[in-house]
Amino acid sequence: MADAFDVVVIGGGPAGYPAAIRAAQNGLKVACIDAWKNRDGGTAFGGTCLNAGCIPSKALLESTELLHRAQTEFAAHGIAASGVAVDLAVMQKRRAGIVRSMTGGIASLFKAAGVTGIFGRGRLLAGRRVEVTSHDGAKSELAARHVVLASGSAPTELKSLPFDHQYIIDSWDALELAAVPNKLCVIGGGVIGLELGSVWRRLGAEVVVLEALEDFLAIADQQLAGEAARQFKRQGLEIRLGAKVTGAAAANGAVTVSYADRTGAQRLSADKVIVAVGRRPYTTNLLAPDSGVALDERGFIRVDEQCRTGVENVWAVGDCVRGPMLAHKGKEEGMAVADRIAGRYAHVNYAVIPSVIYTAPEIAWVGQTEQQLKAAGTDYKSGVFPFAAAGRARAMEAGAGFVKLLASRATDAILGVHIIGAMAGELIAEATLAMEFQASAEDLQRTIHAHPTLAEALHEAALAADRRAIDSINR
Ligand code: FAD
Ligand code: NAD
Repeated sequence: MADAFDVVVIGGGPAGYPAAIRAAQNGLKVACIDAWKNRDGGTAFGGTCLNAGCIPSKALLESTELLHRAQTEFAAHGIAASGVAVDLAVMQKRRAGIVRSMTGGIASLFKAAGVTGIFGRGRLLAGRRVEVTSHDGAKSELAARHVVLASGSAPTELKSLPFDHQYIIDSWDALELAAVPNKLCVIGGGVIGLELGSVWRRLGAEVVVLEALEDFLAIADQQLAGEAARQFKRQGLEIRLGAKVTGAAAANGAVTVSYADRTGAQRLSADKVIVAVGRRPYTTNLLAPDSGVALDERGFIRVDEQCRTGVENVWAVGDCVRGPMLAHKGKEEGMAVADRIAGRYAHVNYAVIPSVIYTAPEIAWVGQTEQQLKAAGTDYKSGVFPFAAAGRARAMEAGAGFVKLLASRATDAILGVHIIGAMAGELIAEATLAMEFQASAEDLQRTIHAHPTLAEALHEAALAADRRAIDSINR
């Protein structure tokens, strides 16, 4: 007889594990199956985010930002630091330790919540039965009233540059390098390219980013993107736009990348090439042919607004379904589905999902860009406040960047907030909350912000939208 559960979640990443915990909180009998295997052969919950994505990348970004600040900012504070040196092995050990403790934490959370955690591969069969193949090959079957598919995503491979994991590497490889490459080529000037390019640049690599599009950071507000491009250039991160990669050849310990740009065919030699051109939904061996679950033309599991697949009581959440591939989006969907299964109200506000790029300065936004508002013909007003005019930012030697707030001229509702500067990823939470509560620019103007804080820049940007900023000249 198959073990029977109220809910079986396939995938224990940031979409799947919150779904499992919330379902258990709702009094349901829950199992969560996860297939993740680390490179040392160990199993771990947490998916891409904890094992090979958000957490290890932020650990390295933090370490290398400290290095960068020691090298470039200490002198301005009057601190003479000589002999600042990097021990990459220690830095990587710290990264691995954080990952280990965070992924171990999920196992403890499962235990405390009463979720049955299973390491192995799950496959949805017809009739909401789930076949489990453990890592030693043993097969078993679970029966479920509800199944939540949360199988995540995998790096997109370029046909012209297939991963060999030695010279042509993916983001996971790039997080675990044991030596700093002399010359690094990054294909893709998106989020991963900028974050991991920054890590290795700060550690001393010569980094060239090849981006296919002519616009830099096309998904971001272009005023923000322009400022980011200036800052990255200053840091020595070379970004070549309009670069169409055609192939690569490895020989004698180096790899030569061929690409074409406006001026013709180009070649670039590097020790390593990180391919970071996006991620694809991962559904390999997830669905039996008669499971009834359909994929869309891009390989995502087809779902409605509420994450229903169309097969009764089979749901899908996170990177394997439409929408931004972000851990917090998956988490929200996972919790919402678990609440819907329990008959509770749940809502995911897809219009208000913050994005953060953890470079230095950080880049963060929520809502619409100025380009999107223009394209939609929306009558908007814009308020910009530079961190150079914020006392706390100056005290932090972090005067680069600005806050830009966009609001409706007709209703004063906040339509978008775009921040480039220190702690932008933290500051965007206030803007997100304001937009979630449908706040107006005036609401932010009338909210008292502690002085001196970086958050005052958001307050002033709201004032600037009505040309009432105090600490900068209204233009
Ligand atoms: P995943 O995290 O991919 O988890 C899916 C899990 O399901 C995996 O453990 C997988 O092994 C398992 N699985 C798949 N198929 C099966 C099966 N058949 N049976 C059992 N288990 C299965 N997002 C952010 O929001 N912030 C960041 O700072 C950020 N940084 C990132 C940095 C990098 C380098 C990368 C690569 C990604 C980053 N992301 C970040 C994106 C984030 O990691 C993903 O959006 C998030 O992990 C998606 O969560 P998920 O649960 O849908 O999928
Ligand atoms: P991305 O979509 O952010 O960027 C990919 C970039 O590669 C784009 O600029 C695209 O134009 C470019 N590109 C595509 N094909 C190319 C080609 N052939 N040659 C050159 N350039 C090419 O994808 P990513 O950086 O790989 O990240 C994948 C996902 O992971 C994203 O959805 C992102 O949201 C998520 N992620 C999030 C964070 C974060 O939230 N801080 C960090 C890392 C990753």
